[in-house]
Amino acid sequence: MTELILVLDAGTTSTRAMLFAPDGAMHHVAQRELQQHYPQPGWVEHDASEIWDSTLACAREVVEAAGGAGDIAAIGITNQRETVVAWDSTSGEPLHRALVWQDRRTEPFCAELRAAGHEADVQRQTGLLLDPYFSATKMRWLLDNSEEVRGAAERGTLRFGTVESWLIFKLSGGAHISDASNASRTLLLALDGAQFDPGLCELFGLPKQALPEVVDCSGRLAMAQKQWLGEEVPICGLAGDQQSATIGQGCLSPGETKATYGTGAFVLTNMGGAIPHSDNRMLGTVLCQQGGQRSYALEGSVFVAGSLIQWLRDSLGFVTSAAESEALARSIPDSGGVTIVPALSGLGAPHWRADARGVITGLSFASGKAQIVRAALEAMAHQTYDLAQAFAADGAEWGLLKVDGGMSANNWMAQDLSDMLGLEVERPEFVETTALGAAMLAGVGCGLFADLQAAARAMRGEVRRFGPSMEPEVRGERLARWRKALEAT
Ligand code: ADP
Repeated sequence: MTELILVLDAGTTSTRAMLFAPDGAMHHVAQRELQQHYPQPGWVEHDASEIWDSTLACAREVVEAAGGAGDIAAIGITNQRETVVAWDSTSGEPLHRALVWQDRRTEPFCAELRAAGHEADVQRQTGLLLDPYFSATKMRWLLDNSEEVRGAAERGTLRFGTVESWLIFKLSGGAHISDASNASRTLLLALDGAQFDPGLCELFGLPKQALPEVVDCSGRLAMAQKQWLGEEVPICGLAGDQQSATIGQGCLSPGETKATYGTGAFVLTNMGGAIPHSDNRMLGTVLCQQGGQRSYALEGSVFVAGSLIQWLRDSLGFVTSAAESEALARSIPDSGGVTIVPALSGLGAPHWRADARGVITGLSFASGKAQIVRAALEAMAHQTYDLAQAFAADGAEWGLLKVDGGMSANNWMAQDLSDMLGLEVERPEFVETTALGAAMLAGVGCGLFADLQAAARAMRGEVRRFGPSMEPEVRGERLARWRKALEAT
């Protein structure tokens, strides 16, 4: 039966291919690390040819393990967002290294645009802020600084795209498309506009003809040529990694929220068909587009989550593994008044203080490793609580919090989140939610499922639930301590 789904996950540090059955079981997986290039402080680049070569190699490995592409119904792609690839449509080769989302080189251009008073308008149209993070200023930098890119622009052969766009061009032998979830991270798509916006292209000084066509996240979007996997395979699902994880978590109704706790934490709330507007510098983004209809999400992130535990492990030696933090937190009834504000690299949403630095308050001679590790884990619920308040102020009341990411394996932290938020917290047994979301989209796109709800019922497995059980006084005391500590940063 042709009913397997091949997912290509082009992440920031690695590229993977996975094969899913329609019941959500993952049959095969292959992975390759991706080399990071740091040519100058603040600059981060990837070799787009390496991304393509690794993706193809991983795809071929899982297809071979499955005995060929004959049983594969569709391909789903999910990817690191915002990263810009520039290539030539004639040669099919990259014109420059890809500028990665983390790359800060375009801060001066962003500052210029902010100083000229453009941010409010750009935010209203795109849901984003004038920050180097997003794609548009990176494209402009390439035009201004690479002769190859400029030359191709003059010849009319320049193609810009985010990573899914680049992979589709290679797989299909020439299609130039981007799905609406990825396109909504560029600063060039108005949240209510079907295609890239001519006014925004002009603001950033970009030729619209170099940009891809914006398409749905599911459907028969392009065809991978026979030469790559031995058979033609339709590409039927596309989504940026955070949107894909939100779908993979089954956050398909307004209010449903997922939080991914990895190095940092990414939170997205499904806003349904309503275009989000934030007064708290949260981001509005396209969650999914099907049949030209969009659903939206509000997005916020905190900079430091699992990296705090890594710091306790690697710099302070308080734990030998991240997992050990759970037993230490459980070994004491409370943190003994110790509170950590993990602003080790500034504070993200909703505080937005890049210059803030971390603090530990409430130390006494009774404070030991356990108290500090527990306070570090407690800080995750505190930061998430502040995000929940800010989301609610922007009209995104959380109904249920679905967690994933490496740090969500910590049961103590999951319970503490539920207690502090006063909400049910749900964690899937199968944690590869990003890949699962792309598989669900591809499953719908190729007709295996009628819609995402049906795909979620079929493909999402068991979940574990954590319910709130903390005394209100304890919670009140925790929040008061957190507020005081925040003031000290
Ligand atoms: P990323 O995708 O950002 O690389 P992962 O989702 O792989 O991150 O999560 C890894 C992070 O989670 C690390 O920073 C690690 O410190 C933290 N982590 C992993 N397991 C646990 C645990 N059981 N308790 C607390 N933190 C953990």
